[in-house]
Amino acid sequence: MAALLSPEDIENHRVAHELVRLKLRLPLVNHLTGIHIKPLRRQWNKIHPNSPPNGRLRESVRAFISDSFSGAELASFVAIYNRLAPDVENSVDPALLLRALTMHARIAHRELDINAAYFAIRDVRAKIVEWRRCGRCQTGFIYSPAAFHMRSCPFCALLGS
Ligand SMILES: [Zn+2]
Repeated sequence: MAALLSPEDIENHRVAHELVRLKLRLPLVNHLTGIHIKPLRRQWNKIHPNSPPNGRLRESVRAFISDSFSGAELASFVAIYNRLAPDVENSVDPALLLRALTMHARIAHRELDINAAYFAIRDVRAKIVEWRRCGRCQTGFIYSPAAFHMRSCPFCALLGS
């Protein structure tokens, strides 16, 4: 007979399953849930036709912001997450990550890459990038001097001002 799981374990497995379904890279699912890579890989192979990507992880949100549109989209996502988790905790809550993704999809009618979403929150919370308020439109955006499309407000850029 399998060991009995506590309600917390069951919730943790449910969250892990959802993260795998949305194709969060397995080392990140492992990091967020503490579940070993092997069972996570089995789960991935059950859900998806292609095996999990083996390549290097893109390690920062900077790799996902290639234009004003992606900058604006990820800024909107971070704003939603910050509303759900206003405390300045220096870690990503996987259940709240999923809730914020669902809310974002409802508003944007588009599914965000969960890997980009994860790094956006993590980098903002870890202060690897800066969460700034635009002096012109007052919208929050992800600022970094290291990337061209992160040096100014993406919403103003989209408006062409
Ligand atoms: Zn602006």
